[in-house]
Amino acid sequence: MTEIIDGEAVASEIRDDLTDAIETLTAEGTRPGLATVLMGDDPASETYVNMKQRDCEEVGIEGIHVDVDGDAPPEELYETIADLNDDPEVHGYIVQAPVPDHVEYREVIRRVDPAKDVDGFHPENVGRLVAGDARFRPCTPHGVQKLLEAADVETEGKDVTIVGRSDIVGKPLANLLIQKAEDGNATVTVCHSRTEGLEEKTKAADVVVAACGVPELIDGSMLSEGAVVIDVGVNRVDADTEKGYELVGDVEFESATENASAITPVPGGVGPMTRAMLLYNTVTAASEQTGIDVELP
Ligand code: NDP
Repeated sequence: MTEIIDGEAVASEIRDDLTDAIETLTAEGTRPGLATVLMGDDPASETYVNMKQRDCEEVGIEGIHVDVDGDAPPEELYETIADLNDDPEVHGYIVQAPVPDHVEYREVIRRVDPAKDVDGFHPENVGRLVAGDARFRPCTPHGVQKLLEAADVETEGKDVTIVGRSDIVGKPLANLLIQKAEDGNATVTVCHSRTEGLEEKTKAADVVVAACGVPELIDGSMLSEGAVVIDVGVNRVDADTEKGYELVGDVEFESATENASAITPVPGGVGPMTRAMLLYNTVTAASEQTGIDVELP
């Protein structure tokens, strides 16, 4: 029997614990504040930002949203960033990606105060993570670690293959899993579009994390018996549904369950965890900025 790792349930527990921490901070006079910045009107980005704002409301974080015109010069976004850096009520914020083509995302990230960079993308925070002194773990990789923990999957001494080397998922996750730490100590292989013999590498793994954005790239035949599978992918594929599409992961779920001992579903696996860990980082930021200690899940 393959265990289905329920990301909704794990995320809900984390949100409950965070709610307690937020109550403590609020009682001490600091209500954690998270701002979202959206430049342009990309519908998918609007949906993500709305979900993040709803999450804030649910747990008692002050949600602030700032829209920036998609045709505005980059300087207008930089001004918003400078204002958020100076605003004591904003403990953390994110600039929703993608930004319009005329704006360089890397430059945007460099301008974010690293202490408020709850995405964990600022070079200072990336460096700290690699050095084993993370201030904020990026939300998706952190969510993956929490899912493994919730499913009682220890990574120490395990072979983990990550398919994907993006700056937001594959690279930070690989760096977290190789840390000399209880939730690290894995031997990690990172694959990408130029990898030769992908199947060999996934088959050799105790844990496979698929984060490549290719619908159902990994099937059951590419997994070893008993492998744990974390499917980060969220892909829209045409389907005969009301919306005209359905969401599938980077793993072919049905065939994967023939070999996997545990697997995350799509949707309902990593997605809710990414959102929960953004709240986690916001509470961390508020606690660090105020010196008020709280217990984190
Ligand atoms: P990117 O497009 O930034 O990176 C994809 C990575 O996969 C790249 O490193 C790419 O290689 C690699 N890749 C592409 N094709 C192949 C292939 N055929 N074989 C092996 N590797 C391949 O994607 P993201 O990391 O941003 O996202 C990955 C997936 O995860 C997407 O489906 C995205 O929607 C989803 N996602 C889900 C989140 C969640 O919360 N559930 C959060 C973030 C992302 P190369 O570097 O050579 O181009």
